[in-house]
Order: sequence, then structure tokens, then C-alpha cells
Amino acid sequence: MAIFETEALVLRTYNLAEADKIVVCLSRAAGLIRGVAKGCRKLKNRFGASLEPFTLINLTYYEREHQELVSFRETEILKSRFNLSSNTSILTGFSYMGDLLIDFSPPHQANDHLYRMALACFEAASESPDELESVLRYFELWLLKIEGFLADLKTCANCHRSFSSEETMYPVYLGQDLSLRCAECSNKRGNAISKRLHAQLRAIEKLAPAKFVEEARDVPSKTKKEMAELTFQLIGRVLERQPRLRPSTDYGDGRSQTGKTKSA
Ligand SMILES: [Zn+2]
Repeated sequence: MAIFETEALVLRTYNLAEADKIVVCLSRAAGLIRGVAKGCRKLKNRFGASLEPFTLINLTYYEREHQELVSFRETEILKSRFNLSSNTSILTGFSYMGDLLIDFSPPHQANDHLYRMALACFEAASESPDELESVLRYFELWLLKIEGFLADLKTCANCHRSFSSEETMYPVYLGQDLSLRCAECSNKRGNAISKRLHAQLRAIEKLAPAKFVEEARDVPSKTKKEMAELTFQLIGRVLERQPRLRPSTDYGDGRSQTGKTKSA
């Protein structure tokens, strides 16, 4: 039995037996881990409030060879999100991001890039709860990119011309194979992506989440809606099912976007 210590973000918990919980977290050193926290539902226990979802903790755990489930030994709160516990839309947003991290991360595989991106997004949403939507779009796109499901956004997959060069290349099209082609090469097959939306996708690639959120304030709601539909479809395609509950969005046109897919 080996002992490990790592920073980790608690994503979800399940009750187990009378007094225990199974805790799923994304750790810096070991990626996604599932562990048993013994006795953590007793009134007085050594874990305190540290295993509340979305708490950032320092975690010490035991791991037995060939067992996926680890045993939590000790935790220390690095950052609590308790101040947001009455904000239901933020909590729904956090749960959505947590669920996607669980869906996309293979267990016990450290991915420092993913870990840092996820923390930055939880932080940006905590700092600017009103901008949750922009943070979620940022998170979705980067999750797809880090896990290798995002096309090259810079050049056409067919003619290899840079997308920034000519107006006639737009709209660009995202094909079934998830690659991006210019208007001429695409035969208009796939999801059309307007120049404005394409610029937003490129901005996500270049900026930190807090900076993107700031710049996204001036983006028209039509473009935001296009982006929400696009990421929803991409995630659905990768997961081969509808993504889990996503906070709905009111784009000011009287219709709320609940993540319904529209075939291209
Ligand atoms: Zn082309």
C-alpha cells in the first residue's frame, strides 16, 4: 500500500454504507481519482467540510495495487466555495463542468494542462458569477482541445489556407470528421461557422478565461447562441449521447437555449 499526496478539486460525492462517502476528484498529480472517505458522514469526523463538491483540497490517500478505488486519509481545505453555495446557477455550472471532467478524464492519468484549465475556469466563474455562460463556453472548447477533439482552427483542413486571409473563405464548415474547411472546400457540408463565431473560438484559444470573459461582454447574443449550439453538438458527438444538464441561457430573444441539437 502506497501513500500519495496531491492537490485536488472535489467534483462529486456519493453516500456509501452508513457513514462513508465515495468522493470523485480531479487531482493535479494523478488525474481523476475515486476514493472512499471513511466515517465522513459522522458528525465529528476528520474531513470536516473539505469534501463538499468544488472545494480545492490538499489530499493524502492510500492506494492499493490494481485497485481503482483509493482510501482518503487526510484532507486540508485550500479553497472553499461555501460563499457560492446559495447561488444555484453557479452550482449548476460547476456541476456541469465537474460532470464533463468525469466524462472526459481517464482515471489515474495526470494531465496538468487540464487541471490548470479547470481550476482557472472554476476561479473565473467564482469571481464573475454573472459571466458564467462565457466561462462554460471557454471550458467546453478547451476541454475538447486538450482531449484532442478540436480541429485546427487556423487553417482549412483541405486547402491549408489560413482562415484569416480572405472573406470568401467564410463561413467555414465543421465536418462530421470534426475538421474545419473553408467555404469553397466544404461543399457546405457540416456546421456553418460565421466569421464572428470563428473569431470567438480563436479568442478562446489565445486568452486566459478571465480575459476572454471580459472581452465576450461585447459579443452579440446571436454569436453567443451559435457558440453554445456548436459546443453542445461537439460534446454530444464525442460522448455519443446528449451531454448532461447544462445551465440554460436566455439570449434576450425570448427563447432560452436549453442545448437542443439541430442537425446541420
Ligand atoms: Zn479550403
